[in-house]
Amino acid sequence: MKKDTPRAWLGSGKVARMSAANIFLRVAIPSPLRRCFDYLPPTACDLHTLQPGIRLRVPFGHTTVVAVLLAISNETDVPKSRLKRVSDVLDTTPLLSRPLLKLLMWASSYYQHPVGEVMGNALPALLRQGHASEVKGEPVWQLTATGQALDSSVLEQTRRRAPRQAVLLQLLSDAPDAMPATHIDTVQDNWRPIMRKLVDKGWVAVTERSCLLPSSVTEPTTTAPRLNVAQADAVAVIAEGLGRFGVYLVDGVTGSGKTEVYLALIKSVLARDQQVLVLVPEIGLTPQLVSRFRQRFAVPVAVMHSGLSDRERLCAWLTARSGEAAIVIGTRSAVFTPFARPGLMILDEEHDASFKQQEGFRYSARDVAVKRAHLEGLPVVLGSATPSLETLHNVAQGRYSRLVLAERAGAARPPDIAVLDVRKQPMFDGLSTALVNTLRHHLDKGGQVLVFLNRRGYAPAMLCHDCGWVAKCRRCDANMTLFNGNTRLRCHHCGSERRADPCCPDCQSTGLRPVGTGTERLEVALKQQFPDTGIVRIDRDTTRRKGAMQNLLDSVHDGSKRILVGTQMLAKGHHFPDVTLVGIVDIDQGLFSADFRATERMAQLLVQVAGRAGRAERPGQVLIQTHHPDHPLLQILLHEGYAAFAQAALEERRQAQLAPHCHMALLRAEAVDGQLPLQFLEHARQLAEQFGASFGENSVQLLGPVPAPMERRAGRIRAQLLLQATGRAALHHLLEPWLQQLESDKLGRKVRWSIDVDPQEMF
Ligand code: ADP
Ligand code: ZN
Ligand code: ZN
Repeated sequence: MKKDTPRAWLGSGKVARMSAANIFLRVAIPSPLRRCFDYLPPTACDLHTLQPGIRLRVPFGHTTVVAVLLAISNETDVPKSRLKRVSDVLDTTPLLSRPLLKLLMWASSYYQHPVGEVMGNALPALLRQGHASEVKGEPVWQLTATGQALDSSVLEQTRRRAPRQAVLLQLLSDAPDAMPATHIDTVQDNWRPIMRKLVDKGWVAVTERSCLLPSSVTEPTTTAPRLNVAQADAVAVIAEGLGRFGVYLVDGVTGSGKTEVYLALIKSVLARDQQVLVLVPEIGLTPQLVSRFRQRFAVPVAVMHSGLSDRERLCAWLTARSGEAAIVIGTRSAVFTPFARPGLMILDEEHDASFKQQEGFRYSARDVAVKRAHLEGLPVVLGSATPSLETLHNVAQGRYSRLVLAERAGAARPPDIAVLDVRKQPMFDGLSTALVNTLRHHLDKGGQVLVFLNRRGYAPAMLCHDCGWVAKCRRCDANMTLFNGNTRLRCHHCGSERRADPCCPDCQSTGLRPVGTGTERLEVALKQQFPDTGIVRIDRDTTRRKGAMQNLLDSVHDGSKRILVGTQMLAKGHHFPDVTLVGIVDIDQGLFSADFRATERMAQLLVQVAGRAGRAERPGQVLIQTHHPDHPLLQILLHEGYAAFAQAALEERRQAQLAPHCHMALLRAEAVDGQLPLQFLEHARQLAEQFGASFGENSVQLLGPVPAPMERRAGRIRAQLLLQATGRAALHHLLEPWLQQLESDKLGRKVRWSIDVDPQEMF
């Protein structure tokens, strides 16, 4: 078995020239080990079917697992007598194309993540489990003609004798369409045997529904607006680059019509009979976007996100691979979707932190998309009103082309933004009188208002007014958040929950008080101020159920709710044409954070939230409540705009030698035993120093180890070691042998450790 990285041996796969006796199959196994494994080909097999990218079933330990064939080789480091034989060949043609396989190898090596897990990330669960790679739709249930025609006496009898059957019958007869299992699950537990009885009686039929959204059958319902000059220019430049690699930043203020630019480009790509991948931060949050795409083109659209069932995901994946799905809209992991005829990739809101996976395989979908575009010879479009500093840095270096949309499209004008100094002002649950008055003014004039607070729950802390005790999480160095009114406590770091203490555990006083304001409390306060106006709250807590987000958004769009309260979920790409005022309740926390990226995030969030105001004919106003009206970040954003802010921030990063002016990797370690993480990292540091000696000038700087900013989380003590280098090559030279060594290290087995290349969160 070989120890070097997978990248090295993505072989040519020219089996024909090798003799069958000397063929070794190098495979990726779903395992956390940073290596591949060699096997002997199955005894009876057509060697021509053995192509990189097919799945094999192989013995591993005491069981068999599904592996992906990476390369065919005529050498191995393992004595032949110790090699096991592949038990089964699962595919006749490669599931993963060569460029895609190459991309995954690259990602495994770049992010230093085990190749088996990287492959696992790219394959739908059913394929990982060995399921056949054929498109089967989602099973759905509906009444047959007999079922629909049942007369009332039969129904009455069923109700009496088999009430559970009756419930299902009622459910199906009320439904406009055939129902998937996920829907029926919400009505009855363990309903499948009952449903089977109805099927046996001939009252219900099971059919399969394709995962493809049915715009293929309807005529496109909306037509494109006439593009303005800036939009048309951007489209022309990118369209000219179709068919070859290029990275384009569409840097357009909120409401400037970036989506229209994407739609125009998609039209050109579809005309070339190619497919388009659109990556968005979170689909559940932007159902509008999906329907906009479906309404514009008469082609099948597939969506890919975490809310799909395994079958739906498989179907979407396979229809993209076969070329049937012309447009795929997906979240982060969809960047690995296979395509028959890829033509263009679009990453909307490219600055969004959700494009970086924060656990396990810690990849950035944005950077992977750029690499993929390079490997496949495609253009990739990155869109944002607030581009990340990384991307702007790449523009400045001449690697990416920047296309600017400086003005709002159509009749919309930029909002009027002002700071509201709340020092010494009376505040009611976080709201100043001035903000309440302005809200009232806008509501009286018939507008909708959006009140933004990036903190969910009722209050961020519960305090004893008599002795100063604060409710803490038992497993983390963090305060508990009050939610569900004053009744429950929850830790937002580990998820633990408990009933709120009725009295102080230290002094038995009943004077426990909520401190600070979350969106839940804000909603209550606004209800008191505006008892006759409909309020809708949009945050993780109110949108957990499937379809909840859509319902809440509908109530905004139909005008039944005129006050929107919410967290950053509201900032993400929504288009609320009637919102004329955005009130930003509290940003002070974000102005003073230890993370060097905090100001960038803050600026992006502010600009994005502010951008929800005045997106149609009505002019918009934005009010920002703060105790720090003179803060330089606010000043530069307000007076000079995001681009000026970004330029200043990049200059600061250059002086401080921080990303993107250097390359970083973070080694994290955690353990229940508080000593171990630092011990392990100290050892890792010494090891790195030994390796590092040979790097000379371009050496890698080691910072730490230090305890993590929140040292204890979910009952584990955490620490970290930061690596920084001016040259990426130096960093990667060190990482590979260093991590191999750490993997076999004794101390390394006692802690949970992980590497994060290009970390976004520094904790
Ligand atoms: P962004 O994605 O930049 O926030 P959108 O593409 O959603 O912007 O456009 C914002 C609004 O402006 C939408 O209602 C859209 O229909 C409209 N719009 C976009 N381009 C034009 C145009 N060229 N003429 C008129 N209206 C436009
Ligand atoms: Zn007390
Ligand atoms: Zn906790």
